[in-house]
Amino acid sequence: MVTRMSQLFLRTLREDPADAEVPSHRLLVRAGYIRRTAPGIYTWLPLGKRVLDTVAQVVREEMDRIGAQEVLFPALLPRDFYEVSGRWTDYGDSVFRLQDRKGADYMLGPTHEELFTTLVKGEYSSYRDYPVTLYQIQTKYRDEARPRAGLLRGREFVMKDSYSFDLDDAGLQKSYDDHRVAYQRIFTRLGLDYRIAFAVSGAMGGSASEEFLAPAPNGEDTFVQCTNCDYTANTEAVEIAAPPKQDPSSHPESLVLDTPDTPTIDTLVERLNTMDLGGTFTGADTLKNVVLKTRRPGDAEWELLVVGVPGDREVDIKRIAGQLEPVEVEQADAADLAKQPQLVRGYIGPDLLAELGVRYVVDPLVVPGSAWVTGANEEGKHAAYVVRGRDFEPAGELGAVEIRDGDRCARCGATLEIARGIEIGHIFQLGRKYADAFELDAQGPDGEAIRITMGSYGVGVSRAVAAITEQSYDDSGLVWPASIAPYDVHLVPVGKAKPGEPSEQLNAAEQIARDLEAAGKRVLLDDRNATAGEKFADADLLGMPTIVVVGKALADGEVEVKDRRSGERRKVALDRIVSELSS
Ligand code: ATP
Ligand code: MG
Repeated sequence: MVTRMSQLFLRTLREDPADAEVPSHRLLVRAGYIRRTAPGIYTWLPLGKRVLDTVAQVVREEMDRIGAQEVLFPALLPRDFYEVSGRWTDYGDSVFRLQDRKGADYMLGPTHEELFTTLVKGEYSSYRDYPVTLYQIQTKYRDEARPRAGLLRGREFVMKDSYSFDLDDAGLQKSYDDHRVAYQRIFTRLGLDYRIAFAVSGAMGGSASEEFLAPAPNGEDTFVQCTNCDYTANTEAVEIAAPPKQDPSSHPESLVLDTPDTPTIDTLVERLNTMDLGGTFTGADTLKNVVLKTRRPGDAEWELLVVGVPGDREVDIKRIAGQLEPVEVEQADAADLAKQPQLVRGYIGPDLLAELGVRYVVDPLVVPGSAWVTGANEEGKHAAYVVRGRDFEPAGELGAVEIRDGDRCARCGATLEIARGIEIGHIFQLGRKYADAFELDAQGPDGEAIRITMGSYGVGVSRAVAAITEQSYDDSGLVWPASIAPYDVHLVPVGKAKPGEPSEQLNAAEQIARDLEAAGKRVLLDDRNATAGEKFADADLLGMPTIVVVGKALADGEVEVKDRRSGERRKVALDRIVSELSS
């Protein structure tokens, strides 16, 4: 069936919506693909629904290809499942919670590990049943703190989530690798430019978690890629080259310096260089101890956490939070510091922290054996030659510094560059976390129980629609990749007619439309009584890959074919148009 614009439920807008921050939001609304219903909640109109369904279908085909089986869970979920895993509490404010008429608690599912685990436990019992991978394409709900950028961060959104269940680590690795390949095929078919980034650092388990990121200036995720090797990681997981370890005994004894009025790194460095300490100091020689606070889900109290970084570096709280999730992290304020009166603001030294029972970690740039100028825990006093592993011992390392251009790759030493992207997919080896919580076992050949190991894999289906748009638009509107466009061909007849009669051009366009449909093309026909200018503007805005104008040239037996992406136009003979567009 040819779709006629005179009948299509579509109203395009001349103006950008006032709340639109990014091109995909602006254009999808203007072109009548989506409408906002509430913050982070959108309605899909006919054109948008076609794109969404196509994306979902590509995902479905590639999941089926790796042998995953489709199921569908409810979105309205009773509390008990999430109580077992602890996530009823862990989710905090980020889920929608509600009660039924009897007062029983429910939530709208933000992701479904608990449900899948329980389902498999109910159906399967023997090792012969495994492995199995299940998936669903479903609406998810998250009460995101900052719903923004239209479909990119919704509070209601469509996700494909799948879960693999295996008997052993090798099986999990295969399920993970299969998903990785499926995701590569999905995002290639969707016409997306994407990168695969480590989402947890090597120290925490190597490739056990990777994100698929679509580079885009409006992406919320910052990732880091090496300019030389293929190392790509998100900023939470990135490992940057640290200087070599040093011998702690190679440094002079530590000494306390009188450094009045030097609460900042700059004032301190200036003072150090007026003292006769046998060398020039920069901020990079100082150790800055930044006081943060953390709170576990469900806890009322915040706990202090001090992080040591080289003085010339900033602390990246988002990066730290990404690693400590679901624990919350914030900068400590004066009231928090007041609880530890021995901590002197601006002059905190690492040696005292252990004594006070305050947790202290350092960035890996603060290598074992390195010597620093740092606070001496007294107003106006610093200490020099304070050595890690001799004068203080941190409780651990935490990638805390803000990554900057020029940082070096931990793999090959070349410079790293920072880029922005949109997370469109995530693959993750969960291991036995949920199998343990739900006691998901298979009975082995010898009768012994085998604890199942799981993977969890997500694709942002609705987010992908926006991500495609972010990578593919121009000043005039949307530019769909052929695989995703709602229609293959947008037919635009323009010409005068006698009142009440179709124009010659419309008649010719009707015939072309029928022939193209018969040849398997999906056709949108602009049969509206509108000006040529309006029709051209809408055709560009809607973004179908090929626009065919049936206009003046019809008199010479020709039509004009415009490639939406390149803007290139060419004349094609009327009797050749169908064969040319369907070859
Ligand atoms: P983000 O860091 O962007 O919040 P996430 O780590 O919470 O994502 P997952 O829980 O791994 O995401 O969800 C799987 C996929 O679902 C993501 O890769 C992303 O594409 C999509 N997704 C997550 N949150 C949203 C959202 N609020 N709106 C649209 N899509 C989302
Ligand atoms: Mg999230």
